[in-house]
Amino acid sequence: NLAQFRQRGPFEWEMPRHGAMRVPGVIFASRELLEAMDAKVGEQLANVAALPGIVDAAYAMPDAHWGYGFPIGGVAAFDADAGGVVSAGGVGFDISCGVRSLHTGLKEADIQRVQERLADVLFRRIPAGLGSTGALRLTGKEMGAMLRGGARWAVEQGFGSPEDLARIEEGGCMAGAVPAEVSAEAKHRQRDEMGTLGSGNHYLEVQVVDELFDLKAAQAYGLAVGDVLATIHCGSRGMGHQIGTDFLREMVIAAPRAGIALADRELACAPLNSELGQSYLGAMRAAINCALANRQILTHLAREAFATLFPGIQMPLLYDVSHNTCKEESHIVNGERRRLFVHRKGATRAFGPGHHELPPEYRAVGQPVLIGGSMGTASWVLAGGGSQTHAFASACHGAGRAMSRHEALRRWQGRSVVDELARRGILIRSPSLRGVAEEAPLAYKDVSAVVEAAEQAGLARRVARLRPLVCVKG
Ligand code: 5GP
Ligand code: MN
Ligand code: MN
Repeated sequence: NLAQFRQRGPFEWEMPRHGAMRVPGVIFASRELLEAMDAKVGEQLANVAALPGIVDAAYAMPDAHWGYGFPIGGVAAFDADAGGVVSAGGVGFDISCGVRSLHTGLKEADIQRVQERLADVLFRRIPAGLGSTGALRLTGKEMGAMLRGGARWAVEQGFGSPEDLARIEEGGCMAGAVPAEVSAEAKHRQRDEMGTLGSGNHYLEVQVVDELFDLKAAQAYGLAVGDVLATIHCGSRGMGHQIGTDFLREMVIAAPRAGIALADRELACAPLNSELGQSYLGAMRAAINCALANRQILTHLAREAFATLFPGIQMPLLYDVSHNTCKEESHIVNGERRRLFVHRKGATRAFGPGHHELPPEYRAVGQPVLIGGSMGTASWVLAGGGSQTHAFASACHGAGRAMSRHEALRRWQGRSVVDELARRGILIRSPSLRGVAEEAPLAYKDVSAVVEAAEQAGLARRVARLRPLVCVKG
């Protein structure tokens, strides 16, 4: 792995341009993380760097691992006027998958008394697992309103409060969504999946703040040691997946006509200035709204579940981030301000202090960046780091897988993972023991090493380390 890279800084590694690459590839990582990183990441970065209209570099975050076409943990920005493209594989199939954390106002001791009951009530009320369905059935008209309105629509339907919206990227509603670009199949799949976690590594977790690293940011975020948070990780369910599938197919077919040579079918993309590119953006933004609405409904369900044990509880939102998106943003590249379409796939937007899109109460310290670890290790709250020169203001999104699901299944049994974690005071509830084995804590990289590398590389600053108490796992 190392031989392909030139070290640019202690935590920054450049793959110089070669072959068809238009820009270099850059990985932010410690030497250890880079050495352990799956070698496909470099190969995939080189492929991304060869796409038309790419700006600056193809980036990978310290949690990067192999993905579909683009690495997971990858960031790439394109300029429409320079022939830039948008790629379905560059966004990922779970469009706008993301993380949101809620304050509970509770302390760890409050949970200890009711931990089993809390785990049970959350598991009963939060639909989880493959093909899980929610209580809501959307008509065609409601579907359109949901796809345009996102979390704002969900709040109008009585899920959560208007105050939540200010603590969601885009104010909870992605502009430019075009429901008419979403296929009937995608809408059909999503009809009864609103307010569901889905399967795999999606979760609702009760966590306690274990240690603070940046007191000023912690204060701005309202975090103190011993505080309990509820965190939700999930995305756009069948809708996002179907949109990804639909457009990938179309982009593969249309690429030759657009003069785009693909190193790999999975890199299928369309020029931003093309009908197909614009259709995808309209559909993808609708899926972002679907994910934002989904997390908003789940937030309501989580609040109801907590209220059965803690009547009158208030659970304000800390923040909601999406980590599979393509967003039009303004960035300074080589001293010049440009409008770019930034793909973040398994990467979190991490605006630094002073950014005008941040809620006023967070503006001085930067955007909360919410990082999952695993059900048995830490998760983290970071703050967006001061400059926009790093990977278009992006940071990691998790620990990142250290091995395939298949390999994890070979090594662990779901039952013993659940028992072992229960002995350590972490209660797991899941409809799938197989899923639990695939998601065993050791199937992931060391999240603390990942966030330390993110900090050292200047992507984000560590604010708080969280420890899991209860995990409802899809
Ligand atoms: P992804 O968005 O790539 O599907 O997953 C994001 C990250 O979530 C993973 O890289 C992993 O570190 C983290 N993660 C997966 N399962 C769990 C879990 O059960 N609990 C927590 N806290 N994090 C998890
Ligand atoms: Mn997801
Ligand atoms: Mn995710």
